[in-house]
Amino acid sequence: MTDSSTPVDTTGAGTVVVALDGPAGSGKSSVSKQVARLLGYGYLDTGAAYRALAWHALEHGIDTSDAASVLDVAGDFEYAISLDPDSYWVRVGGVDVTDAIREPRVSDAVSGVARVPAVRQSVNALFRSLVAHSGRPGVVVEGRDITTVVAPDAPVRILLTAAPEVRAARRSAELTTQDAAAVAAALHRRDASDSSVVDFLTAAPGVAVVDSTDLDFDQTVDAVLGVIRSALRASDPLQTGARNGR
Ligand code: C5P
Repeated sequence: MTDSSTPVDTTGAGTVVVALDGPAGSGKSSVSKQVARLLGYGYLDTGAAYRALAWHALEHGIDTSDAASVLDVAGDFEYAISLDPDSYWVRVGGVDVTDAIREPRVSDAVSGVARVPAVRQSVNALFRSLVAHSGRPGVVVEGRDITTVVAPDAPVRILLTAAPEVRAARRSAELTTQDAAAVAAALHRRDASDSSVVDFLTAAPGVAVVDSTDLDFDQTVDAVLGVIRSALRASDPLQTGARNGR
């Protein structure tokens, strides 16, 4: 496994990292993508790596609650993801799994994979490398532990929240083929399981909170852009990375 103890270098002339954490249904993925688009930044969906590994484990018939089996199957996990917000895809060993990793069977299995410390270290090293080689002036990195573990020194750190019932309603609007109550129950199960690994419901010191409960999509994007602009202004008055926005 690669050493992941060094956080992303977000200082000096390096890539600007916008670290954005939040629970499922907070709007984090769609908002991050849109913010990246408007700023000319890359967009890194970190949850996709855990989902893709869960998919890979399920393909091999692995019990994802068994850490040793997960680590075993992680050995031949060939992962690739696009950082282009206008052309998003995820591949495992050359297979396009962009849609497959959103299936409920993967959502139900992903927490088991994400709780294995060696898996987290390995994917965190991968995230830092993807950011460093993005070729973009900045990258919006979204997940659960970006503000605290992956990029704790990022110049912009945001926790995007929303009330649990609003998050459940948004998620069930996305998954139209499933019963709303079942979607809400699955989301709350996953939150409970995930929050025993990473506290993504409380903002760490210095992390700005954007609560999207009463905001629509455009308002949430504007609120996040506002935080980014003022954080970049505060961290470097000559910063050019956020000038491309609207
Ligand atoms: O964000 P998304 O719902 O796609 O994340 C899928 C899963 O990946 C989460 O439920 C969580 O178990 C895991 N995850 C994580 N740390 C991250 C991003 C996602 O543990 N930074």
